[in-house]
Amino acid sequence: MPSYKAPVDDTLFLLKDVFDFDRYGNLPRFAEAPIDVVEAVLSEAGKFAEKVLQPLNRSGDEEGCTRDSSGNVATPEGFKEAYKAYVEGGWVGLAGDPAYGGQGLPHFLAVALSEYVIAANLSFAMYPGLTNGAAAALWIHGDDALKRTYLPKMTTGEWTGTMNLTEPHCGTDLGLIKTKAVRQGDGSFAITGQKIFISAGEHDMAENIIHLVIARIEGAPAGTKGISLFLAPKFLVNADGSLGARNAVVCGSIEHKMGIHGNSTAVLNYDGAKAWLIGEENRGLNAMFVMMNAARLGVAVQGLGLSEVAYQNAAAYAKDRLQGRSLTGAKEPGKPADPIIVHPDVRRMLLEIRAFNEAARALMVWVALSADEALESPDPAAKRAADDRIGLLTPIIKGVFTDVGFANAVKAQQVLGGHGYIAQSGMEQFVRDARITMIYEGANGVQALDLVGRKLPKDGGRAVTAFFGEVSAFLAENKGDAALAPYLAPVKAALGQLQQATMWLMQNGMRNPDNAGAASHDYMHLFGLTALAFMWARIAKAVLARQAKGKSNEALDSKLALAKFFNARMLPEASAHLARLSSGAETLMALPAAAF
Ligand SMILES: Cc1cc2nc3c(=O)[nH]c(=O)nc-3n(C[C@H](O)[C@H](O)[C@H](O)COP(=O)(O)OP(=O)(O)OC[C@H]3O[C@@H](n4cnc5c(N)ncnc54)[C@H](O)[C@@H]3O)c2cc1C
Repeated sequence: MPSYKAPVDDTLFLLKDVFDFDRYGNLPRFAEAPIDVVEAVLSEAGKFAEKVLQPLNRSGDEEGCTRDSSGNVATPEGFKEAYKAYVEGGWVGLAGDPAYGGQGLPHFLAVALSEYVIAANLSFAMYPGLTNGAAAALWIHGDDALKRTYLPKMTTGEWTGTMNLTEPHCGTDLGLIKTKAVRQGDGSFAITGQKIFISAGEHDMAENIIHLVIARIEGAPAGTKGISLFLAPKFLVNADGSLGARNAVVCGSIEHKMGIHGNSTAVLNYDGAKAWLIGEENRGLNAMFVMMNAARLGVAVQGLGLSEVAYQNAAAYAKDRLQGRSLTGAKEPGKPADPIIVHPDVRRMLLEIRAFNEAARALMVWVALSADEALESPDPAAKRAADDRIGLLTPIIKGVFTDVGFANAVKAQQVLGGHGYIAQSGMEQFVRDARITMIYEGANGVQALDLVGRKLPKDGGRAVTAFFGEVSAFLAENKGDAALAPYLAPVKAALGQLQQATMWLMQNGMRNPDNAGAASHDYMHLFGLTALAFMWARIAKAVLARQAKGKSNEALDSKLALAKFFNARMLPEASAHLARLSSGAETLMALPAAAF
């Protein structure tokens, strides 16, 4: 049976030593969260994930969700009680607005917490994750009446939320949606249509489910310019806040799928369901982007969380499993064979996963702190810079963390050999669960296109120029530090390659848009590798500083070895990405469609 230990110490090291937590003291929410409070919250969150959620992961996978003939969906045994405890513990509303019952703590805490919850039980994590996203969209774009009615219970998690975009004939291309909204005399709308693949779309964990659904108002323009966002509750809410009649939205079926069995993936049939507009008419995608961006960051964390839990179990197995002898002579001569951790190839797999995880966690923490800065910084320049950074890095971390997260789950499974293929090991569940993260919230190919097509050229390239500036400034500031020099040189080389790739895109992408599309996957991964190398340099700097003060420990010292491993054995992939992307679209587009 797999196990999980939340990496609380690592998160705290990143906050305190790498990102200089005190620097954020000017943000109002941080006044409520001095580092000892952060430490207490994270360690409680870790315990909840380890003790309550992780034990339900395998049973939830085996049992899955079930739907009865009336369209009611039951979640696996134990989920309902765990969710009740999660709500009562205040975890859903950790970073929610206190005006609506939230705890008003910094957003980075909610992100850090989500890594632990996801790693322990991804299917469970999706219910509060989607609720937080729906509440954020309502908080930013909803009118006061809607907020008063729905936000308090969504903020605490007593009611859960969903995101209804996908229809049978459209997933990526939302301009094709057919779901209709018809204006009613009382200011509401009647929604009719079918939404598919709706995560947490129907379940028994909360007394009401608040669907955020995109639809086309009668007479609206075709394409994405005619999409509006609506709120449609499962149960209508009376003026006194009590629950009223069942709305005309029912779960037609739930999907039988590869992974995340504990999360219900529903077909929702809307038949004149009562709904209210969120934000402006025909500006629905704009309003929904709040939820989609939050969800993309959330899915990025899913890639990391699964990679972490898969690593922990593979590493434990590798220290225990006896097979063969070390190439350089027996390491445990008293035993019939050495543990497989002695074999270089087993170490390769484990180190590739861990060297990704620890730098990816740093990148996640940096982006999460940026989210707090973007929302609250009193300094307009810092606010804008943080917002630019999140916009640029969101598609990169969604695409890279989930591509690599899945590959790492497979690698961790490989460490267990045949036993990893057997359900009891739990490793094959990590592989199955990780696979969806590359697809939903915009398939990774679409993230890469968003990066090269939208995020790079936005505001004349302001965000990407600022990112290059930040990395260059770090290199310049630390130029004279001889101990750090081995960690800086690889970053400098990768940055050079990334800049070269960006220049190539500017020169060739406009001339032939297929060049941009053909380069996008490699560009996204080249960017990801560069950002991870930058994180390793920042981590190395923090560890060296601790060592100089005599305050390091074994776990921190090992980070220097991991940084060197990353630079020697993973970063060289950057050159391959650059070579591939600058070969252009020609070889990809050469065959006519009929030849496939
Ligand atoms: C388990 C699960 C849960 C989900 N949860 C939700 C949910 O809660 N809410 C919701 O609304 N949806 C949800 N989805 C839907 C999910 O977001 C979509 O499946 C996803 O966005 C891809 O859409 P699609 O399946 O229609 O694929 P398509 O759009 O048909 O894409 C197929 C392939 O073509 C590629 N492609 C498409 N267009 C382009 C392009 N312009 N350029 C380059 N490549 C392109 C894609 O990258 C993909 O590889 C869920 C799906 C699953 C399986």
